[in-house]
Amino acid sequence: MISLGIEGTAHTIGVGIIQNNEGRCNVLSNIIKTYKPEKGGIHPREAANHHTMYVADTISESVKKAKIDFSEVDLVSFSQGPGLGPCLRTAATAARALSLSLDKPVMGVNHCVAHLEIGIGTITGCKDPVLLYVSGANTQVIAFAEGKYRVFGETLDIGIGNCLDKFGRSVGMEFPCGPEIEELAKKGEKYLELPYSIKGMDIAFSGLLTAAEQYVRNGKKMEDTCYSIQETAFAALTEVTERAMAHTEKDEVLLGGGVASNKRLRDMVKTMAEERNASFLVPSKDLCIDNGAMIAWLGFLMYNSGIRMSIEESFIDQRFRTDMVDVSWRE
Ligand code: AMP
Ligand code: MG
Repeated sequence: MISLGIEGTAHTIGVGIIQNNEGRCNVLSNIIKTYKPEKGGIHPREAANHHTMYVADTISESVKKAKIDFSEVDLVSFSQGPGLGPCLRTAATAARALSLSLDKPVMGVNHCVAHLEIGIGTITGCKDPVLLYVSGANTQVIAFAEGKYRVFGETLDIGIGNCLDKFGRSVGMEFPCGPEIEELAKKGEKYLELPYSIKGMDIAFSGLLTAAEQYVRNGKKMEDTCYSIQETAFAALTEVTERAMAHTEKDEVLLGGGVASNKRLRDMVKTMAEERNASFLVPSKDLCIDNGAMIAWLGFLMYNSGIRMSIEESFIDQRFRTDMVDVSWRE
């Protein structure tokens, strides 16, 4: 079965094509186009305009790269949520139009669950992980328990990527700011105390953000501030992830989302995993960031388990929660 997936929850419009290979995900193509705001954060309407402009070409390019014909596509999937309304609507509209014109079924999928399933589908040894999903808007610790993907911990305010970007922008860095903060942090020498907010299994970043901005205003070194942000925020993320692993008794940890490219975060989570005799897993970079292949793969899993969705049912849901998904494709 060949599945085409369209991702469009936020800044990225992506089209991926996958083939099921005896339960493993074979990625045939995976093309993304990312909207970069000239200044400030993501403007939903402008991001959606960007997606509208590129989606048709990205679909054609992806089909060409996969070396298939449109008639070979068996299923059209799209990111149903969570995300920015105008962006979601653009991807969903493109998916519905393609589904109707090819006369092939359509399937809306949960973006966060797709980040987890692509790990299982493509990484050898990844079977039942705890996912630490760290992106711009989302920060969640997700694992399968009693028939559903459940959120064991999440941010109570802003996503970790958003926290890094907001800090970066306030000191004049270019969006996305995570990579520059990572470089500066390498040169940091002095740890500056920052709020470490874990509430139960949840986590918060806005206090840390305010305090870090204040350090810079008060003349503390940028390198030290970046270093301290990373050490504090990533330690909190690692702690929540470890708690979820202990609670669920799982022995695999999977990273997903744009912030998962950060070497320091990887090292911290890897060390934690090693200390628990657990495996540490990260998808290849193109499958870690927002992409269409993961949407295509989850669409396939759902379809294969008997789920069907009519065009009328294919509405978007900006607040589509991870634990709202009925996971019928797993025992
Ligand atoms: P996503 O929303 O999953 O596409 O991820 C985008 C976020 O990842 C942005 O907030 C970036 O600042 C962040 N990001 C990208 N690369 C890095 C990095 N090397 N270190 C930290 N954050 C990063
Ligand atoms: Mg994402």
